[in-house]
Amino acid sequence: MKPDMLMIHYGELSTKGDNKKAFVTALLHNVRVALKPFGLESKGDRDHIYVYLGGADPTPVISRLKEVSGIQRISIVMKVEPKMELIQEATLSLLQEEAGAKSFKIDVKRVDKRFPLDSYGIACAVADYVLEHGDYEVDLHEPECKVKLTLRPEGCYISCHDELGLGGYPLGMIGKVTMLLSGGIDSPVAAFSLIRRGIRVECLHFASPPYTSAAVIDKLKDILAALNVYQNDIKLQVLPFTKLQDAIYANVPEPYCITIMRRMMIRLAVAMAKKNRALAVATGESIGQVASQTLESMGVIEEVADSFPILRPLCVEDKLSIIEKSKRIGTYDISIRPYEDCCTIFKPRRPKTKPKLEECLEYEKRFDYQRLIDECLEGVTTICFSGGQEVLSEGENHAELPQ
Ligand code: ATP
Ligand code: MG
Repeated sequence: MKPDMLMIHYGELSTKGDNKKAFVTALLHNVRVALKPFGLESKGDRDHIYVYLGGADPTPVISRLKEVSGIQRISIVMKVEPKMELIQEATLSLLQEEAGAKSFKIDVKRVDKRFPLDSYGIACAVADYVLEHGDYEVDLHEPECKVKLTLRPEGCYISCHDELGLGGYPLGMIGKVTMLLSGGIDSPVAAFSLIRRGIRVECLHFASPPYTSAAVIDKLKDILAALNVYQNDIKLQVLPFTKLQDAIYANVPEPYCITIMRRMMIRLAVAMAKKNRALAVATGESIGQVASQTLESMGVIEEVADSFPILRPLCVEDKLSIIEKSKRIGTYDISIRPYEDCCTIFKPRRPKTKPKLEECLEYEKRFDYQRLIDECLEGVTTICFSGGQEVLSEGENHAELPQ
């Protein structure tokens, strides 16, 4: 007997009160987009989303669903008429699908009170049948397989296998953020952390050719393709940063170069975020990781945002845990490919770890950075990915791309 459907459990969504309907609608939409290649029907209600398998192998479907944010758990379910002999047979057959499981427990939820036996009676009748027809034992405390029977008027739902989902919120529920993507290990993980919480990301990269090579863009495209698994449409805007960077290195004392460069990046990011109607800027920074990521540096750098929110999803994460996450989401092998970033090519020998705001303001007066910022904003190019493929890549500014 093959499983009939997958049952998606919402988890954290259930705390959303009046917003729940909108959350469920968003999740159902995202599930349908993700499952389009499988051509399966799905339906949602207050408690679950049901994906009807129609004889399809559940394994690849579950793997895809595990990449959709907002899903807490996925159960493989069989649905039979609410007749005892059918429930018994289906339970045994589900247990047999669980290779290696020897002990079981049966939990019964009797929503339809018309069923002649009570919950305990149903559990005993089904367990007796399983014990009689297979090599199993009952374990009420630590069963290898926990069978759930839910009796509803339209049928009995039987499940014994749950897979954990991504958790978080359905994508698109929380708004949109401008993510600074560098090509290193951290920023793709930061982007994923936001997506998992239902926040749509649009990426921004500062390129400094000829100091940085075109290979960086290929690398970023591979990162976009990897993130595309979690966010179906994703775009990257590339800003020409070379002139601004040259002006910084010509006018600012070496220890302050990184601080001023970061201040320029944030100015540009906030301008782009406002233009794209994003609600915040996000970075892959982690407190204490490098000189520009001390609390003192962050404060001086963030000053230019003028109260526009700056998010740092990884701010208290250890590098090892970031690396582990990047391996899990498939960006690690891309991130470790050698590349040059504008932050590393001119790395000062002794960068300032506790920069002073007054000094930053003083150095910034030495050149017309606003003109260079405006020039930079005019040279934006956009790369778009959808369903793992590059769909649009042009040298003009696409302010009105599909959101
Ligand atoms: P990552 O692994 O993400 O590169 P990192 O630890 O190497 O991070 P930095 O290079 O200091 O840290 O950069 C900190 C953050 O600043 C990055 O996570 C990213 O969000 C942003 N950033 C740095 N360089 C660029 C760039 N060239 N374009 C866009 N964002 C950048
Ligand atoms: Mg970096």
